[in-house]
Amino acid sequence: MGNKFYLTTAIDYANGEPHLGHAFEKVGADCIARYRRLRGDRVHFVIGMDEHGQKVAQAAEDAGVAPQAWVDDIAGRFQVAWGELGISHDDFIRTTEVRHRRTVQELFRRIQERGHIYEGVYKGYYCVGCEGFKLEKDLDADGRCPIHPTREIKWVEEPNFFFRLSSFGPWLLERYAADPTFVRPKAKMNEIRNVVTDGLQDISVSRARVPWGIPWPGDESHTVYVWFEALINYLSATGFPDERYTDLWPADLHVIGPDIVRFHAAMWPAMLDAAGLEPPRGVWSHGWINTQGERFSKSAGVRVSLREIIDRHGSDALRYFLLREVPWDGDGNFSFERFDARYTADLADGYGNLVSRVLAMIIRYLDGVVPAHPGTNTLHAARDAAWTRYTDAMDGYLLHEGAAAAMALVAEANGFIEARAPWTLAKQGEQAPLADTLGALADTVAALTVMLAPFLPTKTATVWHALGNGGQVTPVTGPLPSAAHQKVLKVTPLFPKPPAAS
Ligand SMILES: [Zn+2]
Repeated sequence: MGNKFYLTTAIDYANGEPHLGHAFEKVGADCIARYRRLRGDRVHFVIGMDEHGQKVAQAAEDAGVAPQAWVDDIAGRFQVAWGELGISHDDFIRTTEVRHRRTVQELFRRIQERGHIYEGVYKGYYCVGCEGFKLEKDLDADGRCPIHPTREIKWVEEPNFFFRLSSFGPWLLERYAADPTFVRPKAKMNEIRNVVTDGLQDISVSRARVPWGIPWPGDESHTVYVWFEALINYLSATGFPDERYTDLWPADLHVIGPDIVRFHAAMWPAMLDAAGLEPPRGVWSHGWINTQGERFSKSAGVRVSLREIIDRHGSDALRYFLLREVPWDGDGNFSFERFDARYTADLADGYGNLVSRVLAMIIRYLDGVVPAHPGTNTLHAARDAAWTRYTDAMDGYLLHEGAAAAMALVAEANGFIEARAPWTLAKQGEQAPLADTLGALADTVAALTVMLAPFLPTKTATVWHALGNGGQVTPVTGPLPSAAHQKVLKVTPLFPKPPAAS
């Protein structure tokens, strides 16, 4: 049995439709989940919905439906989208579920019991849109929220429960020093270290005026502030406080957007420690995907739907494109021009064409059976080097570099075909060189299919089957396997070229 790997994404806020930003995060995390399974880990991958709070209640009221009916509908839409994108989550947690309420109340009960909660009065400007208190300096000249200039700003004084976050600064800094890769990329680790070094404030973790939430344990006139409640989903999904929760906890990796690193890298570990639980082992902050560049700027106001983007070249192609085009440790752009260009170059003319060519030659020249071969030629060396580059990148979650390593191997394989000219070897009856050539190509196509499986789960399953295997790419925990003696099948074009000028 491999290692346990408990992986999560941020849970999505149930106040609108799934869009490309949501999809990018899920696809990236799914690629990590699939890669870890491919390396033999026992992966548990959890995604879900954040369904409480004032903004959700407001959206439901605006739509004229009850909050639960509203979140049920939104959660359904997200789940349809994740199904279409091939997201292979093991669990989908919703914060309106009973199991989550139970975990939240027990966690805060323990934090309170251990003396880390006190009652205080919170005073300040409150933006309904942000669901948050604002400092005077955060408001614009008219005293309005810069993000929500049309929403009301209220002066609010309310009794709240406060968490003694300020006392966890030294402990957090020790942890960061002990594990400098706790937050990745490194720039985000530095950012959060500076925040903690500057000093943390105690923080209000309950709300007196927000009924759409989880009642505070022991005081039903309050609900748990939605920000803190939502974080706890990662623990709820383990079954906490049931004893078996340690089968999954601590989480191995929280994949999140850059705007919520502070919550995940400081407050969340502190909350867990306050309750006597282990903090998560790692936090990965991906970047933003910008859809306003290039083409979109010319058609301001046109919002491209996820539906339209998936329909362009299919779900596998979109997954690959996003993860190859946008660095997983930085920001990037989405445009249909780039999507079309990569689809053609990398998938249709690249991997797809290589697979078709190699299988067709094995069928034509060798009756469809991969010959026994030494496995030691230049292409084998290139394959092994690409595999090392790939696993190094993927182990460090640099998904774009993993995809690039695979595509560089496609180019080397195509160069090898031209240099060896298997059609000439076949015509001249050069059996040993032909076996060496097509054997190496079959091994390389098999390796590429393994490497691309986390990116292209559906298409690679088709190729894996055509290479004489079962339908699912099998884990590679040792050396790359040889394809010798496999009976191969023809494949229809994997990435058909769209009709010109779409
Ligand atoms: Zn606001």
